[in-house]
Amino acid sequence: MSPSPETGASLNAARRARDLDRLADRPDVDLLVAGGGVTGAGIALDAASRGLRVVLAEKHDLAFGTSRWSSKLVHGGLRYLAAGQVGIARESARERHILLSRTAPHLVRALPMLLPLHPQTGALQAAFTRTGLLLGDVLRLSAGTPGARLPPSRRVSRARALELAPQLRPDGLRGGQLSYDGQLVDDARLVVALARTAAARGATVLTRCAVEEADGGGALLRDRLSGAALRVRARAVVNATGVWAAGLAPDVRLRPSRGSHLVLPGRLFPGLRAALTLPVPGHRARFALVLPQLDGGVYVGLTDEPVAGPVPDVPEPTEDDIAFLLETVGRALRTPPGRADVAGAFAGLRPLLDTGPGASADLSRRHAVLTSPEGVVTVVGGKLTTYRRMAQDAVDTAVARARLRAGPCRTRALPLVGAASPAELRRIRAPRRLVARYGAEAPAVLAEARGRPCLLEPLAAGVTGAELRWAVRHEGALEAADLLERRTRAALVAEDAAALDAAAREALAEGARAEAAGRSRRPPRGAG
Ligand SMILES: Cc1cc2nc3c(=O)[nH]c(=O)nc-3n(C[C@H](O)[C@H](O)[C@H](O)COP(=O)(O)OP(=O)(O)OC[C@H]3O[C@@H](n4cnc5c(N)ncnc54)[C@H](O)[C@@H]3O)c2cc1C
Repeated sequence: MSPSPETGASLNAARRARDLDRLADRPDVDLLVAGGGVTGAGIALDAASRGLRVVLAEKHDLAFGTSRWSSKLVHGGLRYLAAGQVGIARESARERHILLSRTAPHLVRALPMLLPLHPQTGALQAAFTRTGLLLGDVLRLSAGTPGARLPPSRRVSRARALELAPQLRPDGLRGGQLSYDGQLVDDARLVVALARTAAARGATVLTRCAVEEADGGGALLRDRLSGAALRVRARAVVNATGVWAAGLAPDVRLRPSRGSHLVLPGRLFPGLRAALTLPVPGHRARFALVLPQLDGGVYVGLTDEPVAGPVPDVPEPTEDDIAFLLETVGRALRTPPGRADVAGAFAGLRPLLDTGPGASADLSRRHAVLTSPEGVVTVVGGKLTTYRRMAQDAVDTAVARARLRAGPCRTRALPLVGAASPAELRRIRAPRRLVARYGAEAPAVLAEARGRPCLLEPLAAGVTGAELRWAVRHEGALEAADLLERRTRAALVAEDAAALDAAAREALAEGARAEAAGRSRRPPRGAG
């Protein structure tokens, strides 16, 4: 049987070629968005669903930038509460509710988070975090998230803490504080889902298309595959290039801050049933996190280091970052992990607005929408959790500025591709791993393997050939790196990437053969 048919949400090389041709013929659009991270993809969806003609241009690949290096938490903003930023915490809790209940319930799950009470967490700090957690519960309830979806926080006994995390150092452990937050199955999947949902609503999504110059009346795009230049006339341009924003809006001043994570093998954490929140000594509102992942690995984060100088395409964690994380986490564990246990490490740069002197860890995570003298609307700051609100604010500004005829924002109630309620997801007949990653689309991913059951055999990191094929045909993967680094996250561990490489290339070759066959059946451009 043939694999699942293309839909309006399918992104692939053939669609990209058609879209580029169409744009060259009709280069007038309402809105051009630069950047295909969570913010840019969210803007494309917001604008397309208001009825605007929108083009999203991404220099590399969807989720190439900071959006794939996050801690994958859809969080209610506890950290902001601790810093006294109640407004941001409230907005986070509201946006978390929207993701959990309507837009992406298939990609976000409730994550139990345990703060162990060891001697280094004194009574005062314990009382401080308990108060924060209680306030977090108030915000969760006011956002409308029921306890059945995210249970309320509570104090747990020493025995219960050790049940949830048997590897906790037992000496001096008084118990723990247990709370719940949202965890994304994969941050890059959220971005891809947003871009595909936008495409289904008519947005043109072009990866490997850099915005080289922009002003309020349009932009010069460069197709990085063919080298061709394309001038797009746009009534409004939104710069959503995150930490690279100053490249298109030199007035925007950012103070990037590097956050690093380690990838540790799950076998070091047998029986771990909760994430761990571990206070960083000497800081009241800074924590290291131990985050169990769906694929069995465990991430350990998070640093917050100011970065000066040119912004690299792909930031790297330093040995100091790695040592800091191992040391902070090791203090709370029975058997501290060592450098040789680190299977992989990654770093991302937070696009924080420069608001004057002070440590980067203290800079506000609030987003800002700024309009340059040339008329480019830039949206920066914020976080993954609040992408929808950032997109709404950016599109509102662009609409008002360019006097565009657009409907109201609809994204609050607009499910992303694959979205379904937890009850519906439980009824889907497909392997649980696929349902967790693809939601209601899991059966279509499964269908990629019809007649070829070998495509369902896990190759590395649980990834199957069916997923690679799906990513090429429907998720816009154009190169092996897209498959290994973003549609799957195999490349977080070098051996997994090596093990998947041949299958990734085969999936791309198969896609190219299908595209060539399709082209030969289509009349040439301009004919008839
Ligand atoms: C370590 C770390 C952990 C984090 N953890 C969390 C978390 O758990 N939860 C949370 O809510 N938030 C978290 N955040 C914050 C969140 O990840 C970011 O705020 C968010 O991903 C930024 O998304 P963005 O789309 O604005 O930028 P990006 O994802 O960086 O996207 C910008 C895009 O623009 C493209 N681009 C650049 N220049 C051009 C050009 N000239 N033309 C076209 N395209 C261009 C880039 O290739 C890139 O894809 C974390 C951040 C970091 C650094």
